[in-house]
Amino acid sequence: MNLHSIFHSSFVLKWKERLFPTKLTKRNLYFAEGIVCLIGVSMFLALLISLWFLIAVFFFVVWFMILNARLLHCPKCHAGENLNRLMYAVNHPFYCRNCGARIVIEKESD
Ligand SMILES: [Zn+2]
Repeated sequence: MNLHSIFHSSFVLKWKERLFPTKLTKRNLYFAEGIVCLIGVSMFLALLISLWFLIAVFFFVVWFMILNARLLHCPKCHAGENLNRLMYAVNHPFYCRNCGARIVIEKESD
């Protein structure tokens, strides 16, 4: 097994999809929301305990930026959409501001 086949194995792809999901599902949106909470918590710890927690803040911010690029957009036209509006779309009818297509958040995870 060479390095190339390891990086393209189903195991790696599964974890990539799990850590940096692309599919617009309810679970993945809660996952993104969780990372936003972790940013807040580590900022709080940085102010309260040690500025070393800013490393964690940086780490989670980068993680969220990757999710923002991969997950948080309209599936039809790929216009960016913010997390709060997509969370609203979980329980309410919601239409893309750019192309007008209805954005349906899948309730079922894989
Ligand atoms: Zn759209």
